[in-house]
Amino acid sequence: MASFKTCPTCDRRNDAVNATCTFCGTALAQAEIFDAPALERPRLTINHHPVQVPLKTELIIGRADRANDWIPDIDLTPHGGNAASGVSRRHAQLVWDGTWWIQDLNSANGTLVNQVPVTPGQRVALPDGAIIQIGTLYIIFYN
Ligand SMILES: [Zn+2]
Repeated sequence: MASFKTCPTCDRRNDAVNATCTFCGTALAQAEIFDAPALERPRLTINHHPVQVPLKTELIIGRADRANDWIPDIDLTPHGGNAASGVSRRHAQLVWDGTWWIQDLNSANGTLVNQVPVTPGQRVALPDGAIIQIGTLYIIFYN
């Protein structure tokens, strides 16, 4: 377990030690501290190959666009994620609040979880072993 505070402005989760919100800068002095499971990286694989995932509570999945200095937190380029395979630069986002959720970021080709389309703007919980389809890529999610 670890201790957290929820930002009163943007509603996102911060470490309890943070004086200000990592995401919007709001002072967190008034925010209540609560305990929840500690943040752990989700394990993602594509065709049995592990996908590199940084330790963050919000992870953008997409493809790098080096000409415009854009590298998503989870870059699918090394796994064949490109425009032809239907992967957007900012395709989907994983959000952690004690469990992992996914939301589609208005991607051109959408995101599916276990064959069900994710409605843009809605968060969908990710069960262990969920199959996330992004373009033509199938990503397996493990808690
Ligand atoms: Zn905030």
